[in-house]
Amino acid sequence: MRFILKSFYIIVLLLLFLNESSDAAINLHYKEESDIGQPFFAVISSDKPFFKSSVKWLEKDIPLDILKFDGSYRSYALLGGAVNKVKASDYSLVFSVIINDGDVPVYKSVDVKLKERKYPETRLRVAHEMVNPPKSELKRIENEAKLTAKARTKMTQKKLWQTRALAPLEKLEVTSDYGHRRIYNDIPRGHHSGVDLRAAVGTRVRSLYPGNVILTGDHYFAGKSVYIDSGNGVVVAYMHLDSIAVKTGAFVYAGDVIGRAGATGRVTGPHLHLSVFLAEQSIDPMGLFNADFPQSIRLLKQIPLIEN
Ligand SMILES: [Zn+2]
Repeated sequence: MRFILKSFYIIVLLLLFLNESSDAAINLHYKEESDIGQPFFAVISSDKPFFKSSVKWLEKDIPLDILKFDGSYRSYALLGGAVNKVKASDYSLVFSVIINDGDVPVYKSVDVKLKERKYPETRLRVAHEMVNPPKSELKRIENEAKLTAKARTKMTQKKLWQTRALAPLEKLEVTSDYGHRRIYNDIPRGHHSGVDLRAAVGTRVRSLYPGNVILTGDHYFAGKSVYIDSGNGVVVAYMHLDSIAVKTGAFVYAGDVIGRAGATGRVTGPHLHLSVFLAEQSIDPMGLFNADFPQSIRLLKQIPLIEN
């Protein structure tokens, strides 16, 4: 009888122990499917601290920050697939966590299905030099392409972006959607990589997120532009500005005025072109302002990092 009682206690203790260890498990949260061009979250959460985390998505390693939320620890990634870069298919999202300093990373790969979304076409008639810039400008354009490519691919670990993006303008009125395939003078170009928002010359333009200004300039196509790095591969670009109110290297808070809207660069009229790059994938900025975004992590699929 004593033996049975003793065994019973051991089993209860074991169950308690197992229960506790599963409470402290590291969980992964992600979306099983998303439309091409639309942003989505991936989250790593745990009741216990962990040392390091990252995700790999569309060939890019994205170092993540670890934040403490009333008793739990979380790493957030903001991801998407650009309409110009991906086709409808399943893509691997690889989570990587180093639990304690000195441990080897624990990996878990999951599939995210990117689905086709129909984006409209626009035929535009524009001045010849907008499609075919004069030879004298080619060197300048090449140089600017290098600078902007460097800004777009900025990858920093500190999470400055927030799950809720602030609107850059008081009123968001789309004049050209993300994903529009533009056909200039019957020559098809790539899909519109950002969104055009109605904005009169001089309208204040505000930063979506806190971040560091990594590039400002007056570019041939994009005109006066500001690029802001908000961490974990999240880079926001504001183009065709009339004036720029921030300097490269400056830190901005969400809602800070970064400049005034205008019609600089090669445009047919004043507007704000807003581009959001997520680990080099330009996504639909309007997706960030949708009523159903951000989603609670409870709405995401959850699986344990380590299966028992
Ligand atoms: Zn545009």
